[in-house]
Amino acid sequence: MSSKFAAPKGVSEYLPPRSVIFDYICRGLRIPALAAGYELIELPIFEDTELFTRGVGTSTDVVSKEMYTFEDRAGRSLTLRPEGTASVIRAVIEHGLDRGALPVKLFYQGPFFRAERPQAGRYRQFYQFGIEAIGSDDPYLDAEVISIAYHGYRKLGLKDFELQITSLGDSESRFTHRRDLDSLISRLDLDEETSQRAQKNPLRLFDDKREEIRIAMSSAPLLLDYLSKESRENFDQVKAALDSLQIPYRVNPKMVRGLDYYTGTTFEFVHKGLGAQSAIGGGGRYDGLMEVLGGSKLSGIGFGLGIDRILLALEAEAKSGQSLPGELRYVDLYVIGLGDKARSKCFTLVDSLRKEGFVVEQNFGNRAIKGAMKAADKSGARFTIVLGDRELQSESVGLKEMSTGAVTSVRLDALAKVLAEKSSGLKKI
Ligand code: AMP
Repeated sequence: MSSKFAAPKGVSEYLPPRSVIFDYICRGLRIPALAAGYELIELPIFEDTELFTRGVGTSTDVVSKEMYTFEDRAGRSLTLRPEGTASVIRAVIEHGLDRGALPVKLFYQGPFFRAERPQAGRYRQFYQFGIEAIGSDDPYLDAEVISIAYHGYRKLGLKDFELQITSLGDSESRFTHRRDLDSLISRLDLDEETSQRAQKNPLRLFDDKREEIRIAMSSAPLLLDYLSKESRENFDQVKAALDSLQIPYRVNPKMVRGLDYYTGTTFEFVHKGLGAQSAIGGGGRYDGLMEVLGGSKLSGIGFGLGIDRILLALEAEAKSGQSLPGELRYVDLYVIGLGDKARSKCFTLVDSLRKEGFVVEQNFGNRAIKGAMKAADKSGARFTIVLGDRELQSESVGLKEMSTGAVTSVRLDALAKVLAEKSSGLKKI
């Protein structure tokens, strides 16, 4: 009987060979974060529902429509995490991490859950890599955080993306802007739901896809034109710091982020090869979030990068002529042992080569040489050796380079040295 089970609708899952790219992305994104002294925080997959309603905000789709909320056996309301920042802040407050050196610099990675309408690049379970830096409002920190995302993408070989930035200013800037924006919105003929959304956060209307609202909003006042002197200077400093790192960006005053807690610098990375779901990451500063969640009055800044979409972006770039980054599946050597004695020798040889840092596969089952060579071929290994009684006696093997078929005779005790000259081993992956 065939299995009736299938993965739930709209979840992303990764099998070889794509899972190898997925893993490559996760490891690549960490490198610039580690280089800047950020440390891993591993968070729970579910949290108290109120953490997200209070932290992320009820005017957002993420909270109002997309949360996976359930009651546990004791009747507590829990929610599968839709994003990472609220949890990080909760953990920082709960464990007093902000009592140590500031800023607190953390990175996280894992699955997130939003009950969205599934489509290409939009899933109900998706993966993010994120960082948060809490406890400093230095504009250099904004630029550092943005640069970590930028260098992460570049490290993976991504080219065809754009960084968009804007500033949502301080509360004074937002107050005057809101007054003028509200007055424009009050003249619009909005349905009940939209007008409620607009009351909670009028900026959301900039993101509305409906024609009549888009037209009305095209003449709406832009927050960027309302920045207070300090906010403007702060934004100028962030831009100057990005310039000094030669990180290209475009100021997009109409950018709307999907979460309500942002203040000051906000940014998004958009990939040109992805169609509708083009945002491959985004983030910004959040001034009031710590306090809203019961902590001290510290400002923070962070980002979340969408690993699923980065994978799609790498594939899109590969299609348009760029090669996928590196040879992702990498095997130095495939070892075939023929006969009991040789197999036993091979088994320990493989173990010792792996300990020296080479990626080595071996043949299982007492297969005939033809089948074993086929398996070696399929493995994609750069080199293959066959060890039988003759090789055991002479203590040397023929090292076959699979791409050319060329065979070099190598003494068994010199195998690691010869491989090291020809191959880059684990350093490659
Ligand atoms: P956000 O937490 O909404 O700021 O999203 C940060 C990044 O996560 C986005 O730029 C996307 O790359 C990714 N992302 C958000 N929601 C989804 C989703 N439903 N499916 C896949 N990726 C997503």
